[in-house]
Amino acid sequence: MSKNLNIDDKKIADILLKESYISEEDFKKGAEFAKNFHSTIVKYLLSEELINKDLLGQAIAESFKVSYSDLNTNIPAKEQVLKIPEALAKKYRAVLFTEEKNSVVIATDNLEQKNLKIGLKKIFKTKKIILSYSLPEDIDEIFIFYRKTLDTRFASIVKNQNKIAPEIITEIFQDALLYRASDIHFEPQEKEVVIRFRVDGLLYEAGRLPKEHYENILNKIKVMANLRMDDHFSAQDGAIRYTAEKGVAVDMRISILPALDGEKIVVRLLAEYVKDFSLSDVGLLEKNQEMLLKAARKPFGMILVSGPTGSGKTTTLYSLVKYINKPEVNITTIEDPVEYKVVGVNQIQVNQRTELTFSKGLRSIVRQDPDIILVGEIRDKETAEIAVNAALTGHLLFSTFHANDAATSVPRLLDLGAEPFLLASTLELLISQRLARRICENCRYSYKETISSLQKKIPNAKKYFNSKSLTLYKGKGCKSCNDTGYHGRTAIFEFIQITKELEELILTSPSSQQIIALAKKQGFNSLFDDGLEKVKKGITTLDELLRVVPLDQ
Ligand SMILES: [Zn+2]
Repeated sequence: MSKNLNIDDKKIADILLKESYISEEDFKKGAEFAKNFHSTIVKYLLSEELINKDLLGQAIAESFKVSYSDLNTNIPAKEQVLKIPEALAKKYRAVLFTEEKNSVVIATDNLEQKNLKIGLKKIFKTKKIILSYSLPEDIDEIFIFYRKTLDTRFASIVKNQNKIAPEIITEIFQDALLYRASDIHFEPQEKEVVIRFRVDGLLYEAGRLPKEHYENILNKIKVMANLRMDDHFSAQDGAIRYTAEKGVAVDMRISILPALDGEKIVVRLLAEYVKDFSLSDVGLLEKNQEMLLKAARKPFGMILVSGPTGSGKTTTLYSLVKYINKPEVNITTIEDPVEYKVVGVNQIQVNQRTELTFSKGLRSIVRQDPDIILVGEIRDKETAEIAVNAALTGHLLFSTFHANDAATSVPRLLDLGAEPFLLASTLELLISQRLARRICENCRYSYKETISSLQKKIPNAKKYFNSKSLTLYKGKGCKSCNDTGYHGRTAIFEFIQITKELEELILTSPSSQQIIALAKKQGFNSLFDDGLEKVKKGITTLDELLRVVPLDQ
């Protein structure tokens, strides 16, 4: 919670203590923290998870002697919110929380405004106005209701005929960040340009622009990204550091490709919400997390994560690197591109122009003798060879590999020329993964499904479920998930731990089927098994699992 709460920190902490929400000791520690770090007790309590947002809201409300309106769980309907006109609502930070016959409850995060009630009287006439407290970030979330569609805003920008391109770009970038998009696509068609956002892995249309303004927008983006404006026929890549609302800097990667109806722009947003790095957020089941950490504690060996492009492989490895990152461990990475900076880790960027390739970079890294090496991707014979040798000579090496499942990595690496006996002695863990959308926690509900109806989707359903009916989950769709029922993503994994038996099998240059057959004997869980576990827990839906993972044969 970074927003200024406009509250008396000491007073709130006193209330939390008085109500026994925190202990005397927590209070003292918080006061000390506030003094030493020029911070507040409340910030300390939140960061240490000694209180949650709700408790804080209640305590603040109590300090003002009003009730607390929890806008997070009781979201008012859009029509209701819009009864207070935008200008007034934003001026007074007021949301219509509930409306009765004779009274209304208004939620605000600023109770000390003299004219608030007078302003509201004009709308609610004779009804009694009762003020209540809500947290600033919750009020801001509700204000999303006032946002007009991108198309409407485009039209009004165009009508004003002033700085059209920069204003349209700002609107698009801001919406993309608001809706947690990971990519923005500008797709020129014959008469229009379609703007699409990728959210939680899927593309949605966000708006359409008249084509006549596209050239200026394209040029403006090229200038921002240091690209050549006069070049319309080659692929160009660049970067923008964009300063969003509230001064937050967001790094963007720009890729421009000539297409039939004009140059297509794809903007990748490297925003905070995209880089969820905590190992506990990746979506590992306990057993797999233990297996991963055990392998990562070994002094040498190789951990390989495979999966198609966009399956979250890099995020998994980053989370692992972040987890084991300590001052006494030397971690070096070579990546293309370096997507996220990790403090305390030496990160090297592949550069084709200076011929700093994966293999050359890796060769020099090994000479610097790091403990752990992360290679962005093993793509060629040379890199594969150096990687295996590095892992053999006392380094722990993590890398991603473009293969469909964990077992296929072995024959593919052998095809790249890796020696079976070297591979057998260095491989520790083979992981494969996919990304599935998470059910929105705000609107998740459970429903009953019978085995017979399930069999229409999963013919061998009886193999996985041993009761006649079962409880599954879905998202209904709400404001917080933009009516999709999904919010964020989780990874679905399969893990193959290289045991003695598997080592022996690798010596014989096995097929992926042979590897899976042996892994199954040792209790291997397929992508589908792992995903199903997450479906049963209500983390994702059955439909989503079937979308991203093939049914087991
Ligand atoms: Zn929702």
